[in-house]
Amino acid sequence: MKKIITFLILFAFATPAFAETVVFNTNTGKYHKTSCTWAKKCTVNCIKIDKQKAKQQGGRPCKVCGG
Ligand SMILES: [Zn+2]
Repeated sequence: MKKIITFLILFAFATPAFAETVVFNTNTGKYHKTSCTWAKKCTVNCIKIDKQKAKQQGGRPCKVCGG
């Protein structure tokens, strides 16, 4: 039983690292943290996708928030 709980805790902490959502600007090719000021300003060309997918599409991290 203890092992299962340990596993669940590890899984809960590990999950965000795999699926980090960023705001990807398809117009400029830059991606932002969802908390970034520019991400909030970007409403037309921006989509929310996984950071990995943003990189795969040639995305570059924002200089302000670091992506
Ligand atoms: Zn940003």
